[in-house]
Amino acid sequence: MNQPSLETLRQKLDETNRQLLELLSERAKIAQEIGNLKEKQGIPKFDPVREKQMLTELVASNKGPFTDDTIRHLFKQIFQASLNLQVTDHKKQLLVSRKKQKEDTVVTLGDDVKVGGGSPVLIAGPCSVESYDQTRTVAAALKQAGITVLRGGAFKPRTSPYDFQGLGIEGLKILKEVGDEFGLKTISEIVDPAHVELACEYIDVIQIGARNMQNFELLKAAGEVRKPILLKRGLAATIDEFLHAAEYILARGNTQVMLIERGIRTYEKATRNTLDISAVPILKQESHLPVLVDVTHSTGRKDILAPCAKAALAAGADGVMVEVHPDPATALSDAAQQLNIEEFGNFYAQVRESGLLG
Ligand code: PEP
Ligand code: MN
Repeated sequence: MNQPSLETLRQKLDETNRQLLELLSERAKIAQEIGNLKEKQGIPKFDPVREKQMLTELVASNKGPFTDDTIRHLFKQIFQASLNLQVTDHKKQLLVSRKKQKEDTVVTLGDDVKVGGGSPVLIAGPCSVESYDQTRTVAAALKQAGITVLRGGAFKPRTSPYDFQGLGIEGLKILKEVGDEFGLKTISEIVDPAHVELACEYIDVIQIGARNMQNFELLKAAGEVRKPILLKRGLAATIDEFLHAAEYILARGNTQVMLIERGIRTYEKATRNTLDISAVPILKQESHLPVLVDVTHSTGRKDILAPCAKAALAAGADGVMVEVHPDPATALSDAAQQLNIEEFGNFYAQVRESGLLG
């Protein structure tokens, strides 16, 4: 009998490829359906026991010429591809995702300051609320400059337990009093889930700091209230981890979340952290939430705040945060990096001049 020609064999192979593709696509659709069912039932997508079972059955039915190991290897690839498909589908469902919501989320601070609506906001204030007078002095200067949002830490997550830890609730009360006097919206960091509800009485925005970006109980507590949340990127958090942290808040029903890039740890020592400017357009692409940049904590350098703020705005940031203290040399935290009021004036003028603040 004549051997089939190379051409005939190749045609057979092409046909088999097509059939395999059809079967693989069919299999992928079934896997997607399973993924959706698991999603509804809250069952994990990856099931190692089931995978092992399938591999055992396949190997038992293997009549060659592929070895059992090769069959295992090939099917593991197929299983992984199906799992990836389920996870990608799942990602589309994230509440923070642009795929879920196309329009930008606009966060309203108090009843009139909008963040994410196309007109960038400048948030300024001391690292820590140290006293009524210190806070009031900064607030008066900021108000005069036309700033609408005042920041100030009352609960300070310090590296050393011997450093100033903040005035606590007393600090929030000072912020409220000063904010009310000057009609400024206020932001302060909360570190304890038990304080989230209480903090709502005093401040307009709850900040979750870099060190707490993955404090999941705090994120859940922030999701339970209906106050805007300013979520800082963790010291070594990937963008994906950052977005998932925000997802914790949205998943509990609080949609008023702002993301803020504050620099990440790298080997670079010229700045306190490395400002990841690329995070701004990536976050804006991936998510509908407003994205801000903290130029103070990311750089730790007063001399480059203005160009970094301009870069942030040019990259599409919805706002910039900067620390201002009446007398930085005597500040109880971050003394080296806070601007005094005159320096703030120069910084603000430079940023405004760029036309990027709107
Ligand atoms: C802050 O903004 O006061 C602060 C402590 O920043 P971070 O959490 O980004 O270090
Ligand atoms: Mn600080």
